[in-house]
Amino acid sequence: MAQLAEPQDFQRVLSSMCTEPHPAARAAAEEFLATNSGDPGTYETVADLEERAVELLGAVTGHSDPAGYVASGGTEANIQAVRIARNRAETDDPNVVAPASAHFSFTKAADVLGVELRTAPTTGHRADVDAMAELVDADTVCVVAVAGSTEYGYVDPVPALADLAHDAGALCHVDAAWGGFVLPFSDHRWHFGHADVDTLTIDPHKMGQAAIPAGGLVARSRDLLDELAVRTPYLESRSQVSLTGTRSGAGVASAVAAMEALWPEGYREQYHTSMANAEWLADRLAARGHDVVEPDLPLVAAALSVPVTDELRSRGWRVAKTGAGELRVVCMPHVTRAVLESFVADLDWY
Ligand SMILES: *Cc1c(COP(=O)(O)O)cnc(C)c1O
Repeated sequence: MAQLAEPQDFQRVLSSMCTEPHPAARAAAEEFLATNSGDPGTYETVADLEERAVELLGAVTGHSDPAGYVASGGTEANIQAVRIARNRAETDDPNVVAPASAHFSFTKAADVLGVELRTAPTTGHRADVDAMAELVDADTVCVVAVAGSTEYGYVDPVPALADLAHDAGALCHVDAAWGGFVLPFSDHRWHFGHADVDTLTIDPHKMGQAAIPAGGLVARSRDLLDELAVRTPYLESRSQVSLTGTRSGAGVASAVAAMEALWPEGYREQYHTSMANAEWLADRLAARGHDVVEPDLPLVAAALSVPVTDELRSRGWRVAKTGAGELRVVCMPHVTRAVLESFVADLDWY
């Protein structure tokens, strides 16, 4: 076989929200590579696995009877959540209200769905409920809460935002794409069991340690998911709710394998390890005089000068910056204490 390029390893990757898949998840992905979960009438095994995936996602998100499916990622799940809210509402001029910290996938959702996206400034990196309330009106179809923000890993006051949504006759969508597999072990109130959440995004291919592509959309009830259904005349099944058509069964199988292997004890252990690493790094950076955003979930942001960040990049560290220019380190499973020790040693070298 012709030699392709080697994929890069995760050794110095501090900026990614994805990680090395769990070995069982990798094996399952390979095994189901040639299955199409977009055609469940034909690919019945993967269709059964998808039901199991949704059941497990329900267990993680406090829902004993969830509806949902395995999407290509958080972007698709967020687009679909906005689509559900738009389709069930009566208005001709729909808007979605979100905190400014919401992921850029909501910009895509608004664009493709013809919905206005209204964002409110955050306070202390969390949604400001009053500021969001000011943007809500009779045409609001969805209020978004972020549970583990992409930039800082912070969690919005989900119960208050769910109340805000329902007082306005809108749906409440929680985006826990990244945070969903660490939040169960924190004190946060973020899921179906804590608040009147309608739809929720949770990505097995991020903290869930499944192979890409495995995102998750979970809905409170089947009728919400039915807002997405289109008829599929020439498939064995009669309707489809996913945004993509053909979609890899690898993601579905991999998500189930990862969750079967890790829920709840493996994820709990990972949460404690990653949290301890984040706190360790935050302390080291603060001791060196950098302004650190106190980690809430395993993500550390700190104000380092841009030249330092550029130097780190030139030494092979994959580091990203927040919109405000802070260095951002996502403490994923592959970011071990040894990796962080070598990172801090490199920082001290400058
Ligand atoms: C990563 C992320 C997304 C997008 O998910 P993809 O899988 O990259 O499409 C959405 N929301 C949040 C909070 C995220 O962290």
